[in-house]
Amino acid sequence: MNVLWLRNDLRLHDHPGFQRAQADACPLSVVYILPQHWLEKDEHGLNRLSLPKARFLRACLIDLHRALYLQNIQLHILYGDPVELLQRWHRQHAFTLLTHSAQAPEERQWLAQLQQAHIECVTYDTQTLLNHTDIAPILEPFPATFNRFRRAFERDVIQHIQKPTAPVVLTQHSQDVPFITSAPWPNDFHPYRGGAGIQATGGEQNGLSWLNRYLWQDRGIAHYKTTRNQLLGTHYASQLSPYLAWGCLSVRQVWYEIVRYEQQFGMDEHSEWLRMELLWREFFHWSMRHHADRLFQYQGLLDHTPPVRQHNSGYWQAWCTAETGMPMIDAGLLELQHTGFLSNRLRQILASYFVHELGLDWRLGARYFEQQLIDFDVASNWGNWAYLAGVGHDPRSQNGEGRYFNINKQLQQYDPDVRHIHTWLTKCQYATLDDIQRHQAGGSELADYPSPIHLATSNRV
Ligand SMILES: Cc1cc2nc3c(=O)[nH]c(=O)nc-3n(C[C@H](O)[C@H](O)[C@H](O)COP(=O)(O)OP(=O)(O)OC[C@H]3O[C@@H](n4cnc5c(N)ncnc54)[C@H](O)[C@@H]3O)c2cc1C
Repeated sequence: MNVLWLRNDLRLHDHPGFQRAQADACPLSVVYILPQHWLEKDEHGLNRLSLPKARFLRACLIDLHRALYLQNIQLHILYGDPVELLQRWHRQHAFTLLTHSAQAPEERQWLAQLQQAHIECVTYDTQTLLNHTDIAPILEPFPATFNRFRRAFERDVIQHIQKPTAPVVLTQHSQDVPFITSAPWPNDFHPYRGGAGIQATGGEQNGLSWLNRYLWQDRGIAHYKTTRNQLLGTHYASQLSPYLAWGCLSVRQVWYEIVRYEQQFGMDEHSEWLRMELLWREFFHWSMRHHADRLFQYQGLLDHTPPVRQHNSGYWQAWCTAETGMPMIDAGLLELQHTGFLSNRLRQILASYFVHELGLDWRLGARYFEQQLIDFDVASNWGNWAYLAGVGHDPRSQNGEGRYFNINKQLQQYDPDVRHIHTWLTKCQYATLDDIQRHQAGGSELADYPSPIHLATSNRV
């Protein structure tokens, strides 16, 4: 018997696990395990499953449940410690475990423990453009910067990106799990329909339709490079990340759809830029596999520890309640809390403010995003936070600088009509760009709006 353990590969298309299950033609159980510790709060009050994230995940599972049901296969959803549950099951009924290879150290540990318990594990890559054999030639030594990675990727291995495969048709018996565990999901499962921000609902079908709509119907890709830094709307960038993060879409499927688009409409700076962003994702994925635990340590990839700053719990509380007194930051935090999503530009601004202005530990910021983001992807999230904090792959990291954003300049450049702030902060609905910049600089205060908890030197009037 095979047990197919799904994690961030919630789809049927381009799936080596389902292909293997089909070829083996033996009885099959398909399982998703919601790890118990995702719902447990840590010492900072954070868990790993905010309401928007839980909504998105549940929609992914419902969609997959339907798709498998049509093939007479039941998707089992368990809740608990994955290693403990799989071992218990194996003791009652031996099986071969099919699952995707580990990305983060935590998953690597799970797989090692299962193998130590003599469970036969078959692993494969489902999250990246290339599998580990095909990418190996450019990873030794690991490229220190994205530009080096990209050059080597495009020169030596790009031709190995395989075409995505079609969904399989399963014909074997579905096996039951010999016990049940019920997941204590948060009880609000209405998809977010707040009128602002991302409107994505989870699932493979939704992912495929959104890809089709973004590329072919609405042709958002035609202006990607020009609009990708905007803060509001549905087409300024692809908004494919939630589907990629949970594996509702295979990244090879996205890549080859862009190639197909280029064959029809011609390659241009927009389509090339979008494919390049997929290479950023690829870079962070292989970096996490290579650097493992180091990416979760305060010093990140540096070989010395940067100065440790005192934790300011007042600043941390203000961040969690979106009351930093900086309208641009608070608007971003409110969007993140309500929708579980933010544009790349706002993620950078928020992370820079958290680390370089509030002086908080970058790993706490990364954990906060991990809890909130519907597109949480361990490698991209921790890789980007380390980069912004100056301990990751940024070439500037070597002198410990990191990426420091002047918020008033960012506001002027990316939200000159303050539309994003008006959308998310009702208290600032009538404020002009000038009012907000002065407030953020500690000058004239907006009526009814708290003063900044911290004033950056570069922002002061
Ligand atoms: C502090 C911080 C945290 C982040 N956390 C995550 C995360 O948890 N999950 C995540 O998918 N992305 C993360 N990103 C990267 C980026 O912000 C998002 O991928 C992007 O905003 C998603 O929107 P989109 O799909 O419209 O992207 P597009 O601009 O349309 O890009 C297409 C795809 O390329 C990939 N991509 C784009 N930019 C990056 C990048 N900088 N790093 C890695 N991959 C990228 C994503 O898969 C994205 O869906 C983070 C960035 C920062 C600065």
